[in-house]
Amino acid sequence: MLITLALLVGVPLFLLLILVGAVASQTSTPTGTQTQTSTQTQTSTQTQTSTQGQTSAGTSESSGTATPAATAPPGPDDSTPVTPPPIASGGPSRAAIDSRQLDRQSQRAWSGQCWDPDQPMDSDNPERRNHYDLATMNAGSAKRLRGKVAVVHLLLASKSLTWTFGTRTDADRGALLAARFFSEQAKRYSVTDLEYTPMAWLLPTTFKLKELKIDDSSRLEDPRAMVKSALKAAEATLGETLSKITKSLKQEDGYAEVAFMLHLPVDSGAREFAYPSPYLGQLDVAVMFNEELGQLGYSTAHELCHLFGADDLYNLTRYDEEDAGDVMRINCPLSEVSVRDMTAYTMGWLDRPPRRRYKSSAD
Ligand SMILES: [Zn+2]
Repeated sequence: MLITLALLVGVPLFLLLILVGAVASQTSTPTGTQTQTSTQTQTSTQTQTSTQGQTSAGTSESSGTATPAATAPPGPDDSTPVTPPPIASGGPSRAAIDSRQLDRQSQRAWSGQCWDPDQPMDSDNPERRNHYDLATMNAGSAKRLRGKVAVVHLLLASKSLTWTFGTRTDADRGALLAARFFSEQAKRYSVTDLEYTPMAWLLPTTFKLKELKIDDSSRLEDPRAMVKSALKAAEATLGETLSKITKSLKQEDGYAEVAFMLHLPVDSGAREFAYPSPYLGQLDVAVMFNEELGQLGYSTAHELCHLFGADDLYNLTRYDEEDAGDVMRINCPLSEVSVRDMTAYTMGWLDRPPRRRYKSSAD
């Protein structure tokens, strides 16, 4: 049972766009299982930078003649590669991601139309199961989403993993969108002690990403080996194990809970997934790929819920309307989803499990 739960609990990322798409003429959708979109296009909307230079000095005003203005040096555009800085002794900064990154573009990604209609899963979908599992409640490095919580986003860079200005900025924005989501949702449950700190550590590593093979449901065929070697590479750069870093974040910085999210800057076509403890020892780790910002914010929040104890709700054989709109049930912009009481209970926001039409391990 534990293993079943610990097996990837990815987001049904790719079910969606086609349903929404205006071009409804595609008829090649395979019956039965997941609809696949092969490539997730990375939006390349330009980010405004504040460093746009003023036009240089010496613009002597000679009567209205239109001399071509000296062009300002271009700011970084989204495709500009980002070189990871060397890690300072003492480790990366433990400061929170600058909340100013939650800019206008992030606001646009926050709200939007739902991509995934809220309805029971097809009866022949192999992901369906008749049981909700609470196995990761109160386990691992991220037990409850309460108190002082550190979420460390590990941005892995290497020869085969290149971060650009666009993907680097979006990783920050996605983390901040999730932070906003949790702080708003916690209020609905009168949880006032949540102090949520997202950090982003861009790590130069020697990690060699092997080809990512995905199955018919867009899940990685062998995620465990990949995650283990990626974490090992991160630890080699950090000069410490993540378990030790967790300990020090707790003992020296006063965090009650610590969760890690591994980000790989690749358009994998695979679904994001979480390894809640104890699958990888005592660490709670989720894995993220490149996504369009709205999806990235949603996936970040969804996978983090797993790390703090929540199970998926989209794949249960019995639909319970009390779960409608839950972040673990539907894949939508964050303004359109919420934390309903089953998910709230597993993350430590409610003391008692709610009643549901399906079986749960709390029954
Ligand atoms: Zn999930």
